[in-house]
Amino acid sequence: MPQSCVRRALSATAQVVRTHASRLHHIPSKMMIQTTMPDASATGQDDRLTRFLLPEAGVRGVRVHLDDTWRQIRSRAEYPEGIARLLGEATAASALFTGHAKVDGRLSVQLRGSGALRTLFAECTAAGTLRGIAQIDEEATAPPQGLADLGPNPVLAITIENPSPHGRDPQRYQGLVPMEGGDLRSAFEHYFVQSEQLPTRLLLAADEHRVAGLMLQKLPGDGGDADGWTRACALFDTLTPEELLDWPRTTLLHRLFHEEAPELLADKPLQFGCSCSRERVEAMLQSLGQEEAEAALADGVARVRCEFCGQGYEFTPTDIAGLFAQGSAPMPAPERMQ
Ligand SMILES: [Zn+2]
Repeated sequence: MPQSCVRRALSATAQVVRTHASRLHHIPSKMMIQTTMPDASATGQDDRLTRFLLPEAGVRGVRVHLDDTWRQIRSRAEYPEGIARLLGEATAASALFTGHAKVDGRLSVQLRGSGALRTLFAECTAAGTLRGIAQIDEEATAPPQGLADLGPNPVLAITIENPSPHGRDPQRYQGLVPMEGGDLRSAFEHYFVQSEQLPTRLLLAADEHRVAGLMLQKLPGDGGDADGWTRACALFDTLTPEELLDWPRTTLLHRLFHEEAPELLADKPLQFGCSCSRERVEAMLQSLGQEEAEAALADGVARVRCEFCGQGYEFTPTDIAGLFAQGSAPMPAPERMQ
């Protein structure tokens, strides 16, 4: 069935009474939503996060698209195709959630298991930098291909770390739920139903060169008209992963939600960036314990390489001894480094 017919059928189901003629036919570019910033996709790069509101429906949304950022994350390691796609989707999701929650520091999405796929980790900071990694059990008999390779009882964790206004230690909030659903979008939708009791819809898409995500959430309270959420979902359901990857943000907002008069709330660039630092590597070494940290000394120097960005850090025996002489409490490191 042609896409336009699918859209028409779904819209009718949702009893959308207003005409969809403008969305179902070719829309001249001069009719597109005017914004102060051009679509970066005109330059071949579209690394950005866009927040918008469907005021009558009482629905808020976030759209994320990554080109160069994703290629940089992907280039750090050779992943099986299915795992690269999952990492891309998780990366898009981490950015989507920073557009949704109050994040002054950073937000990470982590899936942990005990199978051939050990960890899927993606992080986005308030400054708009992203990084991500998939950790694979190198002794597994076959390379992992998908979420089933997380093994039994996998866990999904979403962690927000905000700088503390008073103390030195950042404030951490972590939501932890059993991983449910056969794909990432179902797992995240389940997470939001459990943690916020707010209806949420997600679409994630990734290919070799691009990743993208779209998230809709019903506003808390009684905002919006009676069938606003149903109407927004019916429009959302017409979007294919290919369109999500292909369409610049103005095209997407216009073709999908023109009838809802979407309001652009914020738009910001995203880029690859790593938040590793000597202090964080020191905390990671402390969390290993003195014996293991000393065992890392080879040729008189412990060399630690950040798996996210490749940055190297060196520690002498005196440095290592100093870490444990201070008696500081070890801080759990969310990422493994070597
Ligand atoms: Zn790094």
